[in-house]
Amino acid sequence: MSNQLIQSAYKTLSGYTPLSGDCGRLCNSACCTSEGAMLLFPYEYDLVKEQNYEFTKQNLKGFGDVYAMTCNGTCDRAFRPLSCRIFPLAPKMIQGKLYVQLDARGRSVCQLTHQSILSLNEEFIIAVKKTLIMLSEDDTITRCLSAMSELVDLYKRKIL
Ligand code: SF4
Ligand code: SF4
Repeated sequence: MSNQLIQSAYKTLSGYTPLSGDCGRLCNSACCTSEGAMLLFPYEYDLVKEQNYEFTKQNLKGFGDVYAMTCNGTCDRAFRPLSCRIFPLAPKMIQGKLYVQLDARGRSVCQLTHQSILSLNEEFIIAVKKTLIMLSEDDTITRCLSAMSELVDLYKRKIL
């Protein structure tokens, strides 16, 4: 069931991109070719474990262990993780309500994270928010979204 939620999230986000054109052309796909791992969402590992990614486990404060993946800079887009699909956005949880925010963890690689969120494609922002709200049907995912929100906040305040 929860695995299906992640698959639904992939589907809901299908076709939406941060800018109306291919932003990878602006930066030579910096987020795909730079160092750094993307965190997997709960239940997502089973969907992507056969891909040519490397997996480690990381402790996500306030949640617990999560899988983190790295790739060689290319992937089968049908199997790219959710974190890649929503980047440069991340969840923002305020008093139990879900919003989106620019992902401060990506500041060293993505120029879009230095601009206003309004510079992103509005349909992309709406699709990401809708997806995160849909995922929050699951309590475990909700706890993970909250922990991710806090992690990004720490980066924003330059504590990490
Ligand atoms: S680094 Fe930012 S601008 Fe470049 S491809 Fe990734 S999301 Fe787009
Ligand atoms: S899995 Fe795909 S989308 Fe994600 S960082 Fe790697 S190449 Fe980019």
